[in-house]
Amino acid sequence: DRTAVTSIDSAVEQHGLKKIASGKVREIYDIDSKTLLFVATDRISAYDVIMKNGVPGKGSLLTLMTIHWFELFKTKIPELQTHLVSATVPQSLNLPDGLQAQLRHRSMVVRKLKVFPIESIVRGYITGSGWAEYKKSGTVHGIEMPTGLKESQKLDKPLWTPSTKAEVGDKDENITPQRAREIVGEKYAEQIEKYSIRAYEVARDYAAESGILLADTKFEWGLDQETDRIVLIDEVLTPDSSRFWPADRYEVGRGQDSYDKQFLRDWLTREGLKGKEGVEMPAEIVEKTASKYREAFEKLTGQKWEKALGSK
Ligand code: ATP
Ligand code: MG
Repeated sequence: DRTAVTSIDSAVEQHGLKKIASGKVREIYDIDSKTLLFVATDRISAYDVIMKNGVPGKGSLLTLMTIHWFELFKTKIPELQTHLVSATVPQSLNLPDGLQAQLRHRSMVVRKLKVFPIESIVRGYITGSGWAEYKKSGTVHGIEMPTGLKESQKLDKPLWTPSTKAEVGDKDENITPQRAREIVGEKYAEQIEKYSIRAYEVARDYAAESGILLADTKFEWGLDQETDRIVLIDEVLTPDSSRFWPADRYEVGRGQDSYDKQFLRDWLTREGLKGKEGVEMPAEIVEKTASKYREAFEKLTGQKWEKALGSK
């Protein structure tokens, strides 16, 4: 449990699960024509490149956290559909115990859906690429903003700021909401915007109770072609897809510490390794990063990490 799983044993495929995609973090397998096995490894990326070694437990943490939010949405936004079918690897796959153990906690059975080719970002605070654009042109994703905003300032209301969803290796590009409407179509864009903002608000209010500010987050959406309804897919509200800030250290006018990869990014920059391929993180950076992820997990879910891993 202390070694990072950076790739899933290829024996999984010998047991009839065809790998259909491999992302920076996840491996995706076909179960049948309607469902996928969605597996998060312990891989970690920074500045768009994957590190050589991983962060032990990270994949399970991302998966359990995503499931936690999906459960919350069930009660808070009952009409919202998610792609989650099951949080456990089905016995019917007849995987040997070793493989079953490797996949446990890091996997979800999800509905196979047509993915809308945009990233549905919601920003509650002005930071990151939003802040960079604002400084240059007074806009965020082309949206005219009030003058005089300061770095990390809370916005009057959450802003829907989509980006393209680039092919593997390419970089996502910020686009205007209008451009997103053209890409996915007016009807779906309207629903994606509405439910992304709703989900952001529910999560923001929930996180605030544990002293965490949800600065921004990225959702992905799919389409159920049988019912013509949008479905929330992918991981949600994890440190990989969101900026979480400790509320007690929040201060307008500067960048904020966050729960995610700050240690790793700072180390890469310091060592001149930013953007380099095949970088191996020293044990200290792995440990510090792991503990940040765990802290976020425990604060946000109210569950002890070791205990969450012990369950089910
Ligand atoms: P990239 O694929 O560019 O590396 P990434 O690092 O975000 O992006 P991962 O998180 O590793 O990718 O893999 C998740 C992939 O699975 C994403 O491309 C996402 O759009 C896709 N996906 C998520 N949920 C579903 C679903 N229910 N049906 C089909 N595809 C899905
Ligand atoms: Mg992803």
